[in-house]
Amino acid sequence: MTHTLPAGVPTRLWLGGKLTDSSTGATFPVEDPATGAVLADVADASADDGLRALDLAVAAQAEWAATAPRVRGEILRTAFDLVHARGDDFARVITLEMGKTVAEARGEVNYGAEFLRWFAEEAVRIGGRTATAPAGSGRILVTKEPVGPVLAITPWNFPLAMATRKIGPALAAGCPILVKPAAETPLTMLLLGQVFADAGLPAGVLSILPATDAAALTGPLLTDARLRKITFTGSTGVGKLLVRQSADRLLRTSMELGGNAPFLVFDDADVDAAVDGAMAAKMRNGGEACTAANRFHVARSVAGEFTDKLTARIAALRTGHGLDDGTDLGPLITARQRATVEALVRDAVERGARVRTGGQIPDGPGTFYPPTVLDEVPADARLLREEIFGPVAAITVFDTEDEAIAAANATEYGLAAYFYTRDLDRAMRVASALKTGMVGVNRGIISDVAAPFGGVKESGFGREGAAEGIEEYLDTKYIAL
Ligand code: NAD
Repeated sequence: MTHTLPAGVPTRLWLGGKLTDSSTGATFPVEDPATGAVLADVADASADDGLRALDLAVAAQAEWAATAPRVRGEILRTAFDLVHARGDDFARVITLEMGKTVAEARGEVNYGAEFLRWFAEEAVRIGGRTATAPAGSGRILVTKEPVGPVLAITPWNFPLAMATRKIGPALAAGCPILVKPAAETPLTMLLLGQVFADAGLPAGVLSILPATDAAALTGPLLTDARLRKITFTGSTGVGKLLVRQSADRLLRTSMELGGNAPFLVFDDADVDAAVDGAMAAKMRNGGEACTAANRFHVARSVAGEFTDKLTARIAALRTGHGLDDGTDLGPLITARQRATVEALVRDAVERGARVRTGGQIPDGPGTFYPPTVLDEVPADARLLREEIFGPVAAITVFDTEDEAIAAANATEYGLAAYFYTRDLDRAMRVASALKTGMVGVNRGIISDVAAPFGGVKESGFGREGAAEGIEEYLDTKYIAL
């Protein structure tokens, strides 16, 4: 199968809905991580381009906010249809620039498009409320208003879905939005820009600004009083930096940050179901997901069976180009990411972990890392504390429920957690004891457009999707009558 882009993927910036060269004329190459081949040269947005996009957003703000919610919703719904109409192109672009298999890319197209449909439906349900003052002295009217121009910064691991989760609610709420996609994966977003142009989104409302120097682009925007919100998905380190930068303007902020999800298997679990769930929670997206199971804590009595079965499943995965038939697992996103994974595995092995399968980087082109299982992982191994972001399952053993919960919560992160048990009392007890924003009970996949996605602790704040998702783009106003 050829590994080339479909026709018609834009490579210039979308400035307020118009394709435009960078003000500096600069471009940068986007590579296929499976081969190292350059897929396209893309315009590199400058600080001036960012400010120009903000000018256009500010000019469009009042009219977009005043546009009938039904009309805003219908533009989103048309965009949803157009993403599906071009679903094969989107899947191909995602696979080529990000590396995941085309089947997984197809899944992301469905999931990512769903945020456009969901928020098309939410646009007409933005409510408010009334109350009577307790003293009977007046009426309290509560209304919702769009926060104003938004900056969205998105990661490379789900190039479509991490952005539609922000664009959908922003547009539904009546906010113009500037999107800075990750430099590794800008093409999916540039194709989405075409979708919105075709869907009839008015000028100024959406800009898409790929850039190699993210801080140079976003710094001036964050100090500009006209920008009213930043929504970020990415690493905790960059999230903290952006919160500090937003503090001077007291911007509304939503932070979807890193995770370190524990996956607990209790002694009463259905082990085969737990292995299925573990495959999904660990190997979805090649392990490059913020919700990926980062560490497995397994009850001693079932640890042998669970580890043997999981190892057999993981060892059978075939690595290759995501577009090629028979591939189960693509490359990691960059050589740097592979070096991080390799260093974490080496550290664990040096401290005494046992390699059950994988662990050796293959020869040849591309940034492949083999599917790997480690057991007997000692408590001081770095990969129990740090996000692995790769296809490596690290297994430890516990003896009591309290020990399992303590291990699960021994992290500064708090995004997702998973556990398997057939005991309903235990399920309720453990679900409430886990300090995370999301818990999967006897399930390895939890993302859903209708569920509020987000974390606690250093995994950030704010929620995406569901009814909560649009609130992040609305200010509450109280009118005394
Ligand atoms: P990253 O933080 O390096 O980059 C994310 C985005 O921030 C990119 O667009 C990047 O260009 C931009 N960026 C980097 N430095 C910046 C700066 N100084 N100023 C402005 N923008 C800057 O993260 P990544 O490696 O692309 O993504 C992986 C991380 O994202 C992981 O930690 C993962 O857990 C997290 N993630 C979280 C969620 C979630 O919803 N919680 C979802 C997906 C990924």
